Amino acid sequence: MRTTYNQELLAFIEKHPTSYHVTAGQKELLDHAGYQQLFENDAWEIRPGGKYYVIRNGSAIAAFRIPPEDCAADDTCRIREIAEKKFAGFMIMASHSDSPSLKIKRNPEMQVDQSYTKLNVEPYGGLLMAPWFDRPLSVAGRIFVRTGTGMECRLVNLDRDLLVIPSLAIHMNREANKGYTYNAQKDLLPLYGMEESRPLAELLAEAAGVDAGDILDGDLYLYNRQPGTVFGANEEFLMSPRLDDVQCAFASLQGFLESEQDSPGAKEGNQPIPVHVVFDNEEVGSSTRQGAASTFLADTLERISEALGDTRTDYKRRIACSFMLSADNAHAVHPNHTDKADPVNHPHLNGGVVLKYSANQRYTTDGMSGAIVRLLAARAGVTLQEFHNRSDIPGGSTLGNISGNQAAVCTADIGIAQLAMHSPCETCGAEDTEQLVRLARELFASQLCIGEGEVTVCHG
Ligand SMILES: [Zn+2]
Repeated sequence: MRTTYNQELLAFIEKHPTSYHVTAGQKELLDHAGYQQLFENDAWEIRPGGKYYVIRNGSAIAAFRIPPEDCAADDTCRIREIAEKKFAGFMIMASHSDSPSLKIKRNPEMQVDQSYTKLNVEPYGGLLMAPWFDRPLSVAGRIFVRTGTGMECRLVNLDRDLLVIPSLAIHMNREANKGYTYNAQKDLLPLYGMEESRPLAELLAEAAGVDAGDILDGDLYLYNRQPGTVFGANEEFLMSPRLDDVQCAFASLQGFLESEQDSPGAKEGNQPIPVHVVFDNEEVGSSTRQGAASTFLADTLERISEALGDTRTDYKRRIACSFMLSADNAHAVHPNHTDKADPVNHPHLNGGVVLKYSANQRYTTDGMSGAIVRLLAARAGVTLQEFHNRSDIPGGSTLGNISGNQAAVCTADIGIAQLAMHSPCETCGAEDTEQLVRLARELFASQLCIGEGEVTVCHG
């Protein structure tokens, strides 16, 4: 099982180098599983037992299932009646589709020394710069192409070794190994070709099967061409570009689809609604139309609720018994820098799913949401480990606390332990993908039950 998940994950990452491709890849899997696409600019007709997804900006996706009715399917039996018996909430898992990279600027070709052509790029997110040097890179993203009546979006991937950001030889900077401050405008521009090279737009047009003159605009990124691999003395590690956070997006969707088999059917009329959501732009602060700070998730939940005939109060009742796992990869203890970790809480590769804590709530996990995750993990046979930042290192942030401003759902922050976060090539444990799939599957087959002073998660 572990091999299957990892091979599928590595193949998915290799085939889907940008947030647009990740979203398209997830759409393909959902289409294959019989999910129907809804569009934000249309009215939504959703039916009991229906399976749906919605995409925003081509780079964020939310999928959900409506529980089946508990009586024979005829028009008099409405899910509204079921909902009136007892409200069930949304069981949500959130992750993100983007990864740190270098984005290509407009008019990118720059002539150098009357011989070379390089490309003008700027950093996207908090990338580790050094590992981007001296490896084959390429370009992928989306372009908008003029049509007879308007324009259309095309995904592009120049699927070949195309670029390199060459290091400066040690002979020209003898101090290079004593630390170097990279200048993003000077050091990071990739070599594209010789002086007479074809413009990048021509390569993009060729790949998309359009005329270069019809390309109106686009969002294009560099990506590392290195395929993922399983390695280590006992093949216990996984190395790949973009594990943060495609690994969590992959595990979330896998668990979401597998949990269809677990849904026991609406016996009590209080079946929860599982929601798999992948936001874009986490790496640049989430404050975009398709980021965790946007209304994307809240809009989706509200429209589900509306389509089920809920009142505004009904919606709030659903939110009050909803739960979310905010899944974004976590820092494993570094073998050469154990001192950078909290003195007690040491997440390791292959140590299970990481539950992340932060007193200032940059991670949402608190006593209550942490306890809920422990109940879910115990039921799924998933091992948990804990992460805190060292108290003198501020650390990062993620999705849950940001998304909570739009949809105030009880949330815990989790992730898979990894090394070299925000390098174009990251390392994690080979056993942990399956652990996260199992936790996701358990989440999506569970519901939050709030009784008199007591909260629990029930299966189904
Ligand atoms: Zn992340």
